Amino acid sequence: MISRLLDRFQQWRNRCRSCAVDGIDKSFLSQCTHHKPMARVKTAMEYQCESCETLWVLADRARFLRKVVRKELYAQWKSRSWLPTSRQMGILKEIAGAADHDEKNVYYPCQINLPGGRLIAKAILVATTGDCFGKFPLDRGVSLLAANHGISPSDFALPAEVRAATMVAREKSMGYAPVNVRDNRGKRYTLSGEMHLFARDGIRGPDLSLDESPYHGKNIVHPDGAEMYLICDMFDGKTAPQR
Ligand SMILES: [Zn+2]
Repeated sequence: MISRLLDRFQQWRNRCRSCAVDGIDKSFLSQCTHHKPMARVKTAMEYQCESCETLWVLADRARFLRKVVRKELYAQWKSRSWLPTSRQMGILKEIAGAADHDEKNVYYPCQINLPGGRLIAKAILVATTGDCFGKFPLDRGVSLLAANHGISPSDFALPAEVRAATMVAREKSMGYAPVNVRDNRGKRYTLSGEMHLFARDGIRGPDLSLDESPYHGKNIVHPDGAEMYLICDMFDGKTAPQR
């Protein structure tokens, strides 16, 4: 008991005060004397903390430096380019991605057929400028897109216009940016924030549409995590490799 307390005290005493946060507003960067720019990585600048060696990324269009928690995943991402095959690209265009503010990441809800034959019905592919590495401290269910990932539209994906609306909704309070939707029976819901997939009481994403009525705040639904996330580089039609 006492040794555990001592361990925790040591951890607390040795932690880097500068890197205790998950994000740093880039306008404060000049005050972060420990954070040194290390390298240009694709569409981002990589920073490292001199005192604790924590890695950070600042994507070109981003306002915040993101702390890289999954260092191995990030190292794998920066080792080469990760673009969809032209076949995958065709399906992703059909799905239509939803971009966050300033298009740092574009999200595509999808179904993934894994090389071993397993089917993941609720997955999200994230095309990123590098900014997403602050969002993936998750240990499992996150990997880089490979040519043998079979991608198809998900039965749970929300319509593109609903997903797009949740990405740009204004916050009413901290972390709560509501979007009104209704299902095909007229029942109304309030989506609480960024959302790509929906499954509730037999109602699935495609059954919902935007509800133009004034804010009601009824039946608030929070996003569920996807079963799997795949990461690839931000792409446009011209960058598809012919694999
Ligand atoms: Zn540090």
